[in-house]
Amino acid sequence: MDKNNDKNKKQNERVCSFCGLPESEDRIIIEGDGCYICDVCIDFCYHMLEKEPAFDSEEIKTESSEEFKLDLTPHEIYDRLGEYIIGQDYAKKVLSVAVYNHYKRIQNNLFSSSDVDIEKSNILLIGSTGSGKTLFARTLAHILKVPFAIADATSLTQAGYVGEDVENVLLRLLQAADYDVDLAQKGIIYIDEIDKLGRKSDNPSITRDVSGEGVQQALLKILEGTVANVPPGGGRKHPHQEFIPFDTTNVLFICGGSFEGISDVVNSRIGKKSIGFNGKSYEKKEEKEAYKMVTHEDIKKYGIIPELVGRLPVIASLEMLEVKDLVKILKEPKNAILRQYQKMFKMDGVTLEFDDEAITEIAEKAHKQETGARGLRAIIENIMLEVMFDIPEQKDLSKCIITKDVVLSGKEPIFVKKHAKRA
Ligand code: ADP
Repeated sequence: MDKNNDKNKKQNERVCSFCGLPESEDRIIIEGDGCYICDVCIDFCYHMLEKEPAFDSEEIKTESSEEFKLDLTPHEIYDRLGEYIIGQDYAKKVLSVAVYNHYKRIQNNLFSSSDVDIEKSNILLIGSTGSGKTLFARTLAHILKVPFAIADATSLTQAGYVGEDVENVLLRLLQAADYDVDLAQKGIIYIDEIDKLGRKSDNPSITRDVSGEGVQQALLKILEGTVANVPPGGGRKHPHQEFIPFDTTNVLFICGGSFEGISDVVNSRIGKKSIGFNGKSYEKKEEKEAYKMVTHEDIKKYGIIPELVGRLPVIASLEMLEVKDLVKILKEPKNAILRQYQKMFKMDGVTLEFDDEAITEIAEKAHKQETGARGLRAIIENIMLEVMFDIPEQKDLSKCIITKDVVLSGKEPIFVKKHAKRA
């Protein structure tokens, strides 16, 4: 291997013992006892060893149940959310306060002898696809270091039917807490697509979807606080199985949904005609405005049973993301997509740049797809495929610049070679 690389390396040049790249490839090399490590590998190890967990993954680092203590104020929670979530200021504020109160309530029960029973404030997040509902729930769990589980309401079934029992969601939380029951009982569960359990149509002649209502009843039980029997191995319950008793009183449930068509419900409540005269964009605008005005009554009308609505006292609506928000999402959060690519390229010794026009074009494309920020990654993956295929072959490359033309017409990026840089 050394023979092959010899021509690229100067004599006595120090080479990282981990990634094999030499000092001349823009690496800062630190010398140990007979071995070397470069700045990029140090950075990589640093993230691996938890200082800054790259929580893009499913995993969330949790405290042990004895260590758990909320020491963040609503302002601090809001600021921490801002490290990962762009915009959505109203929702950030609502959630900071709700989460602060929730965990204060738990601590109150745990650490003092207060006998005032403060009701739990589960949360309902309303916002279009890709507006950040799941991100909010996941980020909160990450900030608070509590276990986190996600369930899709549409995959749940009422007991006795084919599908997933509601108890399995608790099992997932338990698994996220490494079977520490105390800790799991303080975790966060995000239930996505709750709106899909509602009635399929506002037309009174079409009755509510029966299975949807059955699942709502099952969810109601765990949301209002119960001791559920969780099968430790998952799957369906059977009579001879041992169960883990799981108290859901202190679990924070965040339910999310896009509630498509809720503008009709809102408009009929406020007595406004919702017939669009200008096609789709008019309707969208209505929906956007309507999200901010949704009340518990509207949610009931939409088909969520009143008891369940009553267990979701906090409603936070998320705004639809505009192109300028998508641009920020690409660049600014701690684990921003562009930063992730830059880091990957850095490992090959290449500096990756996106010019501003290119970033705006990517955001515009995602905006047109109407899938919020969700479409951004797929668009970039598509653009970068050829580039990532070729770059490791180009040994003397120093920089790769993604321009608007790369995004719009698949042209080649601008490549800057090492000798060109030195010159
Ligand atoms: P939803 O649950 O509302 O459909 P997600 O939370 O799954 O949307 O968002 C999809 C992806 O888009 C997330 O992984 C996240 O990276 C990104 N995203 C969405 N909204 C935001 C935001 N406001 N700030 C930063 N990233 C966002």
